Amino acid sequence: MNYYESDLKLMAEVRRYGKFDAEGCFNCGSCTLSCDLSNDQATFPRKSMRHVVMGVKQALLESVDPWVCHDCGDCSVACPRQTKPQESMMTLRRYLVSAYDWTGIASKINRSKAGYIGALSFMAVVVLLLTGLYHVYVAKMPLSDLTTTALPLEHMFPTMTYFTLAVILLPLLILTTNAFRMYGLIASANQYSRGSSPSLPSRVLTFLTHFFTYKKMAECPTGKSRWVEHLFIGIGCLMMLFVKTFALSWFQTDQVHPFFHPQRWVGYLATFFLLYGTGSILIARIKKEKEVYKSSGLQDWTFLLLLFGTALSGIILHLCRISGLELATCYTYAIHLIIAVPMLVIEMPFGKWTHMIYRPLAISLQSKKEGTLQPQWSQKEVSKYATA
Ligand code: SF4
Ligand code: SF4
Repeated sequence: MNYYESDLKLMAEVRRYGKFDAEGCFNCGSCTLSCDLSNDQATFPRKSMRHVVMGVKQALLESVDPWVCHDCGDCSVACPRQTKPQESMMTLRRYLVSAYDWTGIASKINRSKAGYIGALSFMAVVVLLLTGLYHVYVAKMPLSDLTTTALPLEHMFPTMTYFTLAVILLPLLILTTNAFRMYGLIASANQYSRGSSPSLPSRVLTFLTHFFTYKKMAECPTGKSRWVEHLFIGIGCLMMLFVKTFALSWFQTDQVHPFFHPQRWVGYLATFFLLYGTGSILIARIKKEKEVYKSSGLQDWTFLLLLFGTALSGIILHLCRISGLELATCYTYAIHLIIAVPMLVIEMPFGKWTHMIYRPLAISLQSKKEGTLQPQWSQKEVSKYATA
């Protein structure tokens, strides 16, 4: 599709992913003026909304703006028509996640609440079935013993090692390939093809900086506390993903390490970061303290609850293990897996968790765009808008 070709079905297509109110907008631009992250090169949210209204799908697909938006809600407060542009940007991000995804799964779970809950439930049932089948067919335990006999976890850890690596690395692989598709879409767009741009190492550095620090969120005066919470969640997730991938034997054991063993402190710290970050946001959502928390959708709640549940079940599992409660340890381990695996398999490659890669990637591409902005490009776009 040509950059300026109009797709009259785009609005209807985008609306399948959530709320997108364009009718009420009278183009005053207050939303863009109120946005602290918007600048001359990224004039969202109004421009992104106009892309949809005008049906310029390719321009939308090649845009970094929905990802540079950090969902603070200031634009919704500023909008005199109460069209809630912040929610429209959220809907656009869900649409884009599905557009980048080559498997087609993201569009099914992002377009329908039933599809989303169904996918998470399906994975939970798969984990439950695999746990039961392991006990009956591999450990040869009669079903009647499941409620009375604790199987030492050490028994299943060789199998669990492969399982854990599979449920972390496969979703990560899908997400990475989708990120390359996003990069290809944006970086190959005409507007980046001329002029000087930041070097590749500089863009990689920008990506890594934002991947590890989320510092763009802190640029928003109303986003400082959200930044700390997101930073904590990010650190907790990265610590857990790192140790579960590279130091699995520390955790896949019945052995209780001494109190000062690094395994315990890495686990405690990651748990603290995750419980504090997710707990604070959940409380703020319940209290609807800020505009951003007044419009929480199903996926916002579910992702946070899954993260919180994973951390909480993980620490309860640890407490059961060090207290010598063998049967409780087995059951808590099963519950921990039933919560953590759907989150890893569904949320990481297809859901809200994709932001961890797409946001820093968009910011690194935005730095490229700022370095290559061409007068001709602006002129062409202005002409397009003028004749639309
Ligand atoms: S502030 Fe509201 S009415 Fe004005 S341009 Fe933005 S969305 Fe439209
Ligand atoms: S939600 Fe915040 S960052 Fe996003 S467009 Fe609105 S004001 Fe800007």
